Amino acid sequence: MYKTIEQQVRRNVAPPQLREEFRQHDFESLKSFSLLVFVLSLGIWILFDLIVSYQGHQGLTWLSALFIAVMGMLTVILGFVRKAAHFDVLNLVFIAVITLAVRLVIDGLPQALRPAWMVLGASSVLYSVSVLPVRRWSFLATMLVTWVNLNPFQVPDMHLFELRGSMFVCYAVFLNGLTLYSYLKMRRAKLHNFYMAKLLLEQAYVDALTEIPNRRSFMAQAEKHLQQDAAATRYLAMIDIDNFKKVNDQFGHDIGDVVLKRIAANIKASMSEFEYARLGGEEFVIYVWGLDQADAERRIDALCRRVRDEVAEHPVTISIGLAQILADDTLSNALVKADQALYEAKRSGKDRYVLWRSPLGL
Ligand code: GH3
Ligand code: MG
Ligand code: MG
Repeated sequence: MYKTIEQQVRRNVAPPQLREEFRQHDFESLKSFSLLVFVLSLGIWILFDLIVSYQGHQGLTWLSALFIAVMGMLTVILGFVRKAAHFDVLNLVFIAVITLAVRLVIDGLPQALRPAWMVLGASSVLYSVSVLPVRRWSFLATMLVTWVNLNPFQVPDMHLFELRGSMFVCYAVFLNGLTLYSYLKMRRAKLHNFYMAKLLLEQAYVDALTEIPNRRSFMAQAEKHLQQDAAATRYLAMIDIDNFKKVNDQFGHDIGDVVLKRIAANIKASMSEFEYARLGGEEFVIYVWGLDQADAERRIDALCRRVRDEVAEHPVTISIGLAQILADDTLSNALVKADQALYEAKRSGKDRYVLWRSPLGL
C-alpha cells in the first residue's frame, strides 16, 4: 500500500500550492537549525579572525567589529523571521556578508596561502547552505555570490592554465556539481515525503467512498468543538437512510454506493458550515452549533425534505435523530441520545426527524 502511494506520488508533480506549503513547513522545522548554523558560522569566523589578527600580528580592525555587528544583527533578525520567502533573502544577505568577512581574514594571510583558503572557505559555505531550507534561486544566487567574493583568481599570479589554476577550477566544478546535486536530491526527497504524508493523512481522515470526513475526523473535530463551544447551543444529528437494504437487494451494491454518495453530497451542500461525517455503513452525523432550537430543527427538517424531494433514479428518504448537547454531556453521551431519537424516528414511520427528549424514557 505504502509502495503504491509512493509510486503515485513520484509520478505526480506536486501542485504549486503544496510546494509553497512544503517550503514554509521545511523552514519552520529547520529554523532553529538555521539559527545554529548562523551562530556557529559567526563563531568560527571570529575564531579565525582572532588567529589571523594576533598570530599574524595585525591586531583587530574596525572592519572586524563591523562584520561582527552586521552578522550578529542578521542572526537576531533570523529569530524574528516567520516566512520561508524572507529567509531566502536573509540567508543570501548573510552569505554575502560572511564571504566578504572571510575575504578580510584571508587577505591577512601570506599571498601563497590565499587561493587555497578561498576555496576552503567557499566549500564550507556552500556545504552549509546546501542543508538549509532555501529555494533553488536563493541557493544558486548563494553559489554566485560565494564565488564572486572568494574567487581565487583575484590573487595575483593565479592563472587559469597553470598548475594551481587548473586544479582549482577542476575542484570548484566538482564541488559545485556535488553540492548542487545533493541539494536538489535532498530537496526533492523531502518534498516527496511531505507530499506523501499529506496524502496519507488525507486518506486517514476522509471517507474513501463519499469523500466527506470519516468517523475518525468527526470524533476529533467534534471533541475539539465540544471544548470550545461550551457557551453555545449545540446539537448532534444522527442520520440513517431508510430501507437501504432494499436498495442494495433490488439494484445491487453499486447503486447502493451511488445513493450513499448522493446523500453525502446533500449533507455537504446543506450543512457546509458545520462538522459532518459518514460514521460508517449508511449512517451519517452532523454537529451543529450556534443555532437555537427552532433554527436547528428547521435546518434538519430541510435536509429531510431535500433528500425526499430530490429527483433521482433511485429515490430514498432519511431519518434523523436530533439531540441537544447539554453542558455535562460527553460526545459519546450525545451520540447515544441522538441514536435513541433516531430509533424513535424509525419506529414512528421514518422519513422524519425526532428531537430527543428525556420523557422518551429510553
Ligand atoms: P432502516 O430503514 O431501518 O434503516 O432499514 P435499512 O434497510 O436501512 O437497514 P439497515 O440500516 O440495517 O441497513 C444497513 C445496510 O447498509 C446493510 C448494508 O448492506 C448496507 N451498507 C452498509 N455499508 C454499505 C456500503 O458501503 N455500500 C452499500 N452499497 N451498502 C452498504
Ligand atoms: Mg443503519
Ligand atoms: Mg438504514
